[in-house]
Amino acid sequence: MAKILIVEDEADFSDPIRAYLSRDHHVIEVVTNGAEALDRLRFYKYDVIILDWMLPGMPGVEVCKQFRSSGGTTPILMLTAKGQTGEKITGLDAGADDYLTKPFDIGEVSARVRALLRRPQAVTGNVLKHGQIVLERDTHRVTRTGEEVQLLPKEFALLEFFMRHPNQVFSAEALLDRVWASDSEASPETIRTYIKRLRQKIDSKDGPSLIHTVHGVGYKFSAGESKSG
Ligand code: CA
Repeated sequence: MAKILIVEDEADFSDPIRAYLSRDHHVIEVVTNGAEALDRLRFYKYDVIILDWMLPGMPGVEVCKQFRSSGGTTPILMLTAKGQTGEKITGLDAGADDYLTKPFDIGEVSARVRALLRRPQAVTGNVLKHGQIVLERDTHRVTRTGEEVQLLPKEFALLEFFMRHPNQVFSAEALLDRVWASDSEASPETIRTYIKRLRQKIDSKDGPSLIHTVHGVGYKFSAGESKSG
């Protein structure tokens, strides 16, 4: 699960990208102009930004420049109808990580997004293991001692997030920010409910919970013997 911001004013382009990437269980948000994009980026964290060059008002390349100069490090995939090398260089100079020329194959967008997510600062690996718990991203499957565990999509997303950030403490607010959509109605209470349900599903009856409560701070996934691959 990754949180992806699409900045594109033409629904003919953003709709298919949103639909395609949603199938990979990503959380997708779409804004239609640069000012709105910069606004979102000030307040919320995303794992990848898909940024169109041609936008009403501020062009995508300017959004990219401003975001980078404000310290933003999120990987950016630029979309553009401009195929010339000069434009490509301008985009990359402005701080874009990758570049795709319209019209593009939708599978190509997905492949580029996956490549950006594989970068070290982002999520890595498709199979995560911790003790008896195995989480497979591709098939959206979780098993405990080989037995399949049925998780709701958000329970899965939360578990994946914990397994990718073992031994780090996250407050309920931080989990909301990183795992839920920005416009979600969820509250810290929602997080508590999800964590309770997740514990019931993944913890063994006699051992300590994999998700530790750090009193007054938040939650931590304990991963003494975890590995990803
Ligand atoms: Ca556009």
